[in-house]
Amino acid sequence: MALSPLREVVILGCGGSSGVPIIGGDGGRGRWGTCDPSTPENHRSRSSIVLLGEQKNLLVDTGPDLRHQLLHCGIERFDAVFYTHAHADHIAGLDEVRAMNWMLQKPVEAWGSAVTLNEIEERFAYAFRPWTPEQFFRPGLVSHPVNADSIVQIADFELDVFRQNHGLSDSFGFRHANFAYCTDVVEISDHVLDRLTGLDVWVVDCFQKEPHSSHAWLERVLEWHARIQPRRTVLTHMGPAMDWNWMQEHLPDGIEPAFDGMRISF
Ligand SMILES: [Zn+2]
Ligand SMILES: [Zn+2]
Repeated sequence: MALSPLREVVILGCGGSSGVPIIGGDGGRGRWGTCDPSTPENHRSRSSIVLLGEQKNLLVDTGPDLRHQLLHCGIERFDAVFYTHAHADHIAGLDEVRAMNWMLQKPVEAWGSAVTLNEIEERFAYAFRPWTPEQFFRPGLVSHPVNADSIVQIADFELDVFRQNHGLSDSFGFRHANFAYCTDVVEISDHVLDRLTGLDVWVVDCFQKEPHSSHAWLERVLEWHARIQPRRTVLTHMGPAMDWNWMQEHLPDGIEPAFDGMRISF
């Protein structure tokens, strides 16, 4: 089967686990940290992307903002979901998969590590029960466990999948051709960094400027960038300390912040 070339990656969301702003603040208008609320790019929903191919699209994670993200970005369909890990900010919009079930009239393939898929199945058992044609009220997914350090074909995309250290747990990142996505990561092994050379675009976790126990921070990303030298490094999973205008002024050439709705063409 011929593999579809990647046409476009759409950044559905690029915020940390609580988004930006975080709930609360003066009059309930949000806790913005150092982010300027008047800058549209500082409004960040939970991190997720979609890979658009010639015929099929691959969604990465089903975060709590999924419905709004798909409508906002004009994404009408996805054919499979790749789960990076089972934290709530990456899975709790799982019910929105129903819209695809109704459209495709079949369950949606869910790919990820066995650990991740088991956790998701425990929390959303109803979504993994056998598919029924008149399935209307519940989403339908089918698990496809993937091993780290393997190459898998998902929705016409060939993914080189690897394990990442995410503090107290692991996550999966992947590379497809000259694009790679590494969200929710604090340490990347040498052997994975070696596989991330020659990238055109690298989308990578950068939660804040100060060190963090489970997320990469700016200095660490700069070190990785210098080592693997992607043409473009795009920061994601950013918290309220990452003001858009500050980043425009201070990030070196080749490194840029994502924003919700950003489209990267290939
Ligand atoms: Zn996250
Ligand atoms: Zn996480």
